[in-house]
Amino acid sequence: MTIPFFDGHNDTLLKLLEADGADKERPFIEGMPSAQLDLPRAKAAGMAGGFLAMFPPPLKTGLATVAGGPALSPNLPPELALADAQLVTNGMASILLRLERAGALAVCRSASDVRAAIDRQVLAAIFHIEGAEAIDTDFRSLDVLYAAGLRSIGIVWSRANAFGTGVPFRHNVDPDIGPGLTDAGKELVRVSNRMGIMLDLSHLNAAGFRDVAAISDKPLVATHSNVHAISPSSRNLVDWQLAAIAESKGVVGLNYAVGFLQPDGVFRADTPLELMVRHVDALVDALGEDGVALGSDFDGAMIPAVMGDVTGVPKLLQALLDKGYGEELVGKIALGNWLRMIETTIG
Ligand code: ZN
Repeated sequence: MTIPFFDGHNDTLLKLLEADGADKERPFIEGMPSAQLDLPRAKAAGMAGGFLAMFPPPLKTGLATVAGGPALSPNLPPELALADAQLVTNGMASILLRLERAGALAVCRSASDVRAAIDRQVLAAIFHIEGAEAIDTDFRSLDVLYAAGLRSIGIVWSRANAFGTGVPFRHNVDPDIGPGLTDAGKELVRVSNRMGIMLDLSHLNAAGFRDVAAISDKPLVATHSNVHAISPSSRNLVDWQLAAIAESKGVVGLNYAVGFLQPDGVFRADTPLELMVRHVDALVDALGEDGVALGSDFDGAMIPAVMGDVTGVPKLLQALLDKGYGEELVGKIALGNWLRMIETTIG
């Protein structure tokens, strides 16, 4: 039995953009062994859809230093200029739109779009940007991105931008680092609420998190973050953040990145499924059965070797069933909770 699932976060579009060759779409459609996610394996695994992130990487260091490098870097990467962010974001948006034209996926602008795509057995994609660097503070480019399908914004990646400040990748550290949202960041929250754009709190620091919680009239969402009490990374959620998300009836997507799963933050390929289940247990305790979902971080991080790639997701779902989670709850974690959150935040 294949359990359909929806993924809260992956960086596959950047992987495709950075691959050699002019045809950036074909590797996704036909299979890309160097990636953790492509269409043939998504279909085989039961992936119904997901948030496809557009992450504009640091100009010089590149994503690899983040994904495979030291987890304990104390410094935030430099800020990224608007034009640089827009160039790579356009590249990734183009790949997403061409994949849709090729029939490989559907760019979904609402929960009913997602449901329709799932019914047609077409991969349901939500256009997400990870870090709002491609958006100017007059929100002109936001209109253009919205028209292209944008429906979800991570206000920051792990650096500062015109809207707020992200957390560095540090272990044994609280996310309470740096200032809150700028005035433009606060306005971005209001504009996104109005337009039906989901806001993602993953990578945001504590002060920014508090600002979003105070301003936003929508449930709080962290698409790919884990439990700080188990793995005290600045990228993970501390108790008061989980309580705020629970109070708002929001959702957290489990991040498979080993550095955010391991108690000591060390990048270990032999991270067991049991540790992922431990984080899910803690998330269910904190958020309830409607508050937990999946947020793989495929193609953006080292994930447990036992999972390997997207075809390993059924192993995680089976591990939850084996732990005594009922089929109904596993169905919520796999798909239902994201569907409800898309309905609530996007429409
Ligand atoms: Zn991320």
